[in-house]
Amino acid sequence: MKEQSSEFRSKSNKIAFDQSHRQKINYNISKYDGAVLRGKKRFSNLELARQKAANLKHKSINQLDKLLVEFETNFVRNGGKIIWARHAEEAATSIVKLLEERSTKLVVKSKSMITEEIELNHWLGKKKIESIETDLGEFIVQLAEEKPYHIVTPAMHKSKEDVSILFQQKFDTPANSTPEEITAFVRNRLRSYFMEAGAGITGANFLIADIGGIAITENEGNGILSMAMPQCHIVVSGIEKMIPYVEDLDLFWPLLSTHGTGQALTVYNSIVTGPSQDGEQGPREMILVLLDNGRTRLMAKKRQRSALSCIRCGACLNACPVYKNIGGHTYGTTYTGPIGAVITPHMKDLNEWKHLSFASSLCGQCTEVCPVKIPLHELLLVNRNEAVVEGFIKGSEKWGMKSAKKVLGSRKLLDMAKASTKNLVLKYMFSKQWGNRRVMPRMAKKSFSQLWKEQQENQKT
Ligand code: SF4
Repeated sequence: MKEQSSEFRSKSNKIAFDQSHRQKINYNISKYDGAVLRGKKRFSNLELARQKAANLKHKSINQLDKLLVEFETNFVRNGGKIIWARHAEEAATSIVKLLEERSTKLVVKSKSMITEEIELNHWLGKKKIESIETDLGEFIVQLAEEKPYHIVTPAMHKSKEDVSILFQQKFDTPANSTPEEITAFVRNRLRSYFMEAGAGITGANFLIADIGGIAITENEGNGILSMAMPQCHIVVSGIEKMIPYVEDLDLFWPLLSTHGTGQALTVYNSIVTGPSQDGEQGPREMILVLLDNGRTRLMAKKRQRSALSCIRCGACLNACPVYKNIGGHTYGTTYTGPIGAVITPHMKDLNEWKHLSFASSLCGQCTEVCPVKIPLHELLLVNRNEAVVEGFIKGSEKWGMKSAKKVLGSRKLLDMAKASTKNLVLKYMFSKQWGNRRVMPRMAKKSFSQLWKEQQENQKT
């Protein structure tokens, strides 16, 4: 198998020059940019809101041990059950077991990145349990047998024409169907699945400690149907989604929607505190799978732990020049863009995924747009440093850096070699990294310091 970093490089190299991809991404992100800009103006003091949110998340992460216990006590008191999962496989197999015990053959899912993280559909497929994505974007990527492209807008890489062709191929819908026609088609098709599914699987945007409930935010109403229609509601959430009080949603809901899509509030916001009670309609069971999967490893890192504050709004992806050039699929991970580049090496394996932290111009746009003020571009540097300290850098690179330090730190050594020699060194040592699409710069015949010296001497004479 190709190693992750070379696969990333070769995919990036290809897609960055794909004009059609670039056009679709630029178009979709520009629409997003305009809406977010308008949305941000609704805050009387956005900076204060961001700072408050950052402080609250920081406090929650630092008190996670206490808040998780408080949450569990309240959630169980409300009638819910909790399964603690140490890693992805444990979470996925626990869900499969739950479904098998209930003889469930069909589940409906609402959009959730964490179920992508544990590759739930793959595990369900192995046991012949049909899993239907009910979010329109997720439905499209499932139909295309692809992974979500973006953490908020999974089908961002497809134009409306692409989607129309896909539906025509798969369902024989009329050519050139409009987005409205496709939406109506999917809505119609999903109705029976909601009615027949034995379980609904959702994620959670927030876990609320004081009421032992989850908060879900969505635009299509499919999340509500997924959790309300089937008899069993299974929630999958990372442990870091915790907030202390239900009142905190006052701050987080508008921040999330504004930075995610530019909306003042997402259309449907639900708080669920357990299964239905006697006399109520709704699922008789609510089971929450609480996943670690590397999060406690990340928490142990003094600097990088702040990345656990992420509320998955996707703003840093849209702001990132690297993401805009190479797109979501190139990363080969569930979480992409700057936040993915920061957390993936710790949630998976630093040596195998460190290249993501190096694939950045460090422009700082991601940090600037983050609603919870995660210093993303600084954390990329911390990751790079950690990779070097851990010895995960190639011997040739180490040697190159040492030599560069010695030569670049010495004027005498720099001026010793002729320009032609320097050009040869550049050509043989760096042409691979420089790539064949750019012309390697040529060194001037004389350095600035030589020219300066000459000028000074000429002035004396
Ligand atoms: S790191 Fe910040 S900007 Fe990026 S997805 Fe998370 S909350 Fe949004």
